[in-house]
Amino acid sequence: MLYRSNRNNAGLLGVLIALTACLTLCGCVTVYNPATERRETLFMDTAAEVALGKELDAELHKKMKFATDPAQLARVRNIGQRVARYSDRQDLHYVFQVVEDKTLNAFAVPGGYVYIHSGLAQTANDAELAGVIAHEIGHIAARHSVKQLQGLMGFQLLMGIVTGASGQLPVSQALSVVFDLANLGYSRKDELLADKLAVRYTRRAGYSPLGIVTFFHKLETDAAQKGRSAPPVFLSSHPPTKQRIAQVEEEMRKR
Ligand SMILES: [Zn+2]
Repeated sequence: MLYRSNRNNAGLLGVLIALTACLTLCGCVTVYNPATERRETLFMDTAAEVALGKELDAELHKKMKFATDPAQLARVRNIGQRVARYSDRQDLHYVFQVVEDKTLNAFAVPGGYVYIHSGLAQTANDAELAGVIAHEIGHIAARHSVKQLQGLMGFQLLMGIVTGASGQLPVSQALSVVFDLANLGYSRKDELLADKLAVRYTRRAGYSPLGIVTFFHKLETDAAQKGRSAPPVFLSSHPPTKQRIAQVEEEMRKR
């Protein structure tokens, strides 16, 4: 995601208990991830991640209004697939969709599903849209949401052992909370890595990575117009825009 939303995170831990039951069946794998340049131990293999993503996507279709304008969809999908070809993760089929929402945001859920708000699609030029999509693909390639789930599940498992608590919740509830997790944002470190990967993927796909910077400026202008002041750095999971722009510009100087 691009900026932090104020959605309610209540119930997240409880719901992760239900997910744990499913995911413990999937087994552990250790893989080298070129996006993070590290070996990573994953509770969820690609097939399990895609199955979870599919369920999340079906749930999102019940909750949100999706855009159907063929020209807008074709533009987002064409740019998305062009960028996805250069992702460090080629074990996924990427799916790009547009959600009817005037705000300038985008998000991804596990399994290769990327959602662009219609407001963003209308505001961004092609290079900017490619930059935003590449940022979301970066989160997927680095498996940020999958790893966040793993971390929380580990904590929940520990709490279950300590308190003797256990529980089962309906899958639909579990999925809606996992979506909240995706929408609430990642750590500062994860956001900076997604920006770095966005430079890599846009450049490989033949788009100017400068689109990432110009879109940051559009986000700032939009926030100023709406009177939304940025949260203090230490309270925000997102790095300040200035820091993100500086990092993208530094990355652009590298070859
Ligand atoms: Zn992000």
